[in-house]
Amino acid sequence: MRKTLYIIGLATIVFSCTTQKYYYTTDKKNNLTKTTTTTENITPPKPSITHQGDVEFYTKNIANASKNDNTISYGSLVSAKPKGYKVTKNYFPALGQNFRQRYLILHYTALDEAKSITVLTQQSVSSHYLVNDKNDDEIYQFVDENKRAYHAGVSRWRNDYNLNDSSIGIEIVNPGFKIDAAGNKVFADFSDFQIKKVANLVKDIADRYSIPATNILAHSDIAPTRKQDPGPKFPWKKLYDDYQIGMWYDDATMKGFLSQINPTDFVTQSTTSPFVFKVQTAFQQLGYDITPSGTWDKQNSQVVEAFQYHFRPSKYNGVVDAETWAILQALLQKYNVAK
Ligand SMILES: [Zn+2]
Repeated sequence: MRKTLYIIGLATIVFSCTTQKYYYTTDKKNNLTKTTTTTENITPPKPSITHQGDVEFYTKNIANASKNDNTISYGSLVSAKPKGYKVTKNYFPALGQNFRQRYLILHYTALDEAKSITVLTQQSVSSHYLVNDKNDDEIYQFVDENKRAYHAGVSRWRNDYNLNDSSIGIEIVNPGFKIDAAGNKVFADFSDFQIKKVANLVKDIADRYSIPATNILAHSDIAPTRKQDPGPKFPWKKLYDDYQIGMWYDDATMKGFLSQINPTDFVTQSTTSPFVFKVQTAFQQLGYDITPSGTWDKQNSQVVEAFQYHFRPSKYNGVVDAETWAILQALLQKYNVAK
């Protein structure tokens, strides 16, 4: 017995057997109406599809937006073309699916535009998008959003590893940092028009894939021992304030935590094993790749520096001071991120 289940939005269900078909329709109050009909009379409603070259596009949402399914984006449907057969177009997206794209990772290239394009298209690294530093309306795309780009490398956030598999990568043309005479990293500014481009691109992608604020991250967040980009000059607070992009703490909450800390006690306390364990655990809870041990190490300092690039860019020395600790607690209270 052959059974076919078609689902169109949540409105209509067709249940098909070899001998007869039941056709269910829901009215506005979700009452099911059942009609029996013959196979010959069945014309399954089809989603509206348009063609652009070889690519097929759904022209409207025909499934459940709350299920985060592919048809609500304006992405393409890629189908097999087996020789001698056709993949039927009497097709309705399954509710049981979700997006591969669960993270958005931001980078700078540390190269000028021409070199950035060459490296990201001709070598073993790539990104989905490149935002140039020109005051124009153009953004470059190198990799289809449905495919993996090689931008994240060895990486981790919470219990997700190798984030190339699950992310969209955006590279930003920016020179990166230079080391000054005192040995400090001095980072280059981003222009306002470039940040506006980045923000609009991120907003578009995050909205289409329902990427949560907690998954919009810097390369340095997911690879703190290897990477600094996009660095402390990248204005995460502005993106949060002006575009509701990514995570940011509430100032009043942070100041509340800060007011409970005695700076002198903090310095003494911060060197003790129980407090180190507490701090390590808190960074791990937010998502950083850190293993609570009670003993501080170099990798831990690199995690703190990455955190400071993102959330406390006025000072990024890898040292957990009272303000860094207060910001971390405010973020954890707000986002309540599970491990
Ligand atoms: Zn990067």
